Amino acid sequence: MTTTSNDEGRDDDFKVIVISGPGGVGKGTIVNEILKRDPRLWLSRSWTTRDPRPGESPDNYHFKTADEFQRHIDSGGFLEWANFLDYMQGSPIPDPPAGMDVVFEIDVQGAKIVKGLYPASLLIFLDTPSREVQRQRMVGRGDTPERIEQRLQKAEEELARSKELDFVHLINDELERTVDEVLALIAGHRA
Ligand code: ADP
Ligand code: 5GP
Repeated sequence: MTTTSNDEGRDDDFKVIVISGPGGVGKGTIVNEILKRDPRLWLSRSWTTRDPRPGESPDNYHFKTADEFQRHIDSGGFLEWANFLDYMQGSPIPDPPAGMDVVFEIDVQGAKIVKGLYPASLLIFLDTPSREVQRQRMVGRGDTPERIEQRLQKAEEELARSKELDFVHLINDELERTVDEVLALIAGHRA
């Protein structure tokens, strides 16, 4: 895994919320819900070189070729980027409208970089009640068996790494409850 950042510190005036967690635990679902319910949240839309999953919204990522991604690295367009499994993901330099706070849905390595750039960031790590539940969720959304095994193997590594940072850990069991918990954490962070 390679991760890099473009800077040693930033003084933007928005709040930063980072949502991390293993693949398939429900990060995207929860992020969609909190964006609907809190109009002051602005999602950082990542770039990726992977293909869209069956039925995946074209809005989930900026889907790019490896060449396009590399050119964006070279021109300093990313806040951070990482190799994940066999593809690349990166957060462009955020540029939210005035008054909006920024949500990143990124892996733990990316979270570490963002935390370094925005030390006041709120870090939230989502997980499932068990790896079997995580597996079922990935089966349910149509991941290939190969991707499911890769993401399950990576899950424990992500969890262990998350404990080296000041993540708040939440188990996404019942969706509505988790969404309420995330919104409450954000409200507390703003206060
Ligand atoms: P991630 O973004 O973490 O990879 P997704 O948001 O794509 O995960 O969720 C994976 C699957 O799990 C989706 O099919 C989603 O509808 C489902 N899901 C998310 N949260 C829950 C939950 N609390 N209970 C049951 N299914 C859920
Ligand atoms: P997926 O391919 O399942 O959408 O995402 C795989 C992993 O990459 C997830 O942990 C997701 O949070 C993370 N991710 C998505 N976008 C970015 C990004 O821009 N930067 C980093 N570091 N991780 C990302």
